[in-house]
Amino acid sequence: MHPAATRTSQQTIEKFGKFVIPNYNRYPVSIVHGEGTVVWDAEGKRYLDLFPGWGCNILGHCPPQVVQAVQEQVAHLIHVPNTWYTEAQGDFAEAICTRSFGKAFFANSGTEANEGAIKLARLHASGVGKSTSKYRIISFTNGFHGRTYGTVTATGQPKYHEGIGPLLPGFRYAPYNDLEAVRQLVDDETCAILLEPVQGEGGINIAEDSFLKGLRQLCDERGLLLIFDEVQTGLGRTGHWFGYQHSDVQPDIMTLAKGLAAGVACGAFVCRDHVAPSLRPGMHGSTFGGNPLAMVAGLATIRTIEEDGLLGHCQNMAQRFRDHLTTLKKELPIIKDLRVRGMMIGLELSISATPAVAKCMERGVLVNATHDTVLRLLPPLNITAEHVDEGCAVISNVLREMAGES
Ligand SMILES: *Cc1c(COP(=O)(O)O)cnc(C)c1O
Repeated sequence: MHPAATRTSQQTIEKFGKFVIPNYNRYPVSIVHGEGTVVWDAEGKRYLDLFPGWGCNILGHCPPQVVQAVQEQVAHLIHVPNTWYTEAQGDFAEAICTRSFGKAFFANSGTEANEGAIKLARLHASGVGKSTSKYRIISFTNGFHGRTYGTVTATGQPKYHEGIGPLLPGFRYAPYNDLEAVRQLVDDETCAILLEPVQGEGGINIAEDSFLKGLRQLCDERGLLLIFDEVQTGLGRTGHWFGYQHSDVQPDIMTLAKGLAAGVACGAFVCRDHVAPSLRPGMHGSTFGGNPLAMVAGLATIRTIEEDGLLGHCQNMAQRFRDHLTTLKKELPIIKDLRVRGMMIGLELSISATPAVAKCMERGVLVNATHDTVLRLLPPLNITAEHVDEGCAVISNVLREMAGES
């Protein structure tokens, strides 16, 4: 048993069987402790975690500066609603906006950030007192924006729509990286274009610079808002503070969550100054949004990334992953494509990637598979070179074995 465990994995699994709705496919271990890129299960087995917190734990598990900030804050104020001002919310908004643009609104998750952005886009185009009716939003096939009705509708993947209709009216989907298709879909009712600068759940698909520049131009010509969902790409994940900074195409609204507070629940959106007044008092809100615990965790996250030079480190480690995996790709024809942007890494296989997850786990490495054929890694920004090497060695052996069997 690990010292942090009070019962075996099997006992925890039995309790879930009785009391927890079984809507997730879970691997049969109970995780009890984590430090940096390593976690331990109840039985004391160690795992190298190359997918910590589905990308939320952008500094790995329990980063000391975030732990300390939360421990200090929790004794002063746990929650204060948005009928008051708090120092922490102003400071975190400043920290985000001085590294990006505009003004911030705080929520608790990615879907909530995107719901707010969708409302803001419609309010800005045709809100109370305006004579136009512009509500349509164009999003993209294989995108992912969340699980609530607005965002699941925006998610251009039929598998997430089955059986839950009717969906929210007013969405159209274009193929990613296809500017001409977007141009065809824009009409007089369109108010916004919503996309991820790198599709995460859709398989680490990177937007071309010319595509993003073309979208910006199209939005300017037609008076549309450009919304980037940076829930996964934000906060240094790609080696810049925000994904849009790779192409220098600034959106009008940017949504954030996942790594925003290093694993403490936190979401936000940022909008350009002239858009902000459209979110008038009473039109939108979030009871827990911007609470002091999340705000100090977020501030500590940004401080750590800056003080430890993690944007540069992330780019170096990305190159190290790229080197290892490019060598492997040359060796194994089952690897069709390698896509890397900072600590977003996708290996597209010609076979299902799903079995690789369990095989890597057996050997003590945690990875993810998405879109059936893509092995996905979202390692923390502060991963060490030794851990990159260790993880790539295990992944290489597993994929060699799978290539031999296929
Ligand atoms: C994870 C994710 C979301 C949803 O975030 P939740 O916090 O689960 O609601 C939205 N957009 C993108 C790009 C994501 O990766």
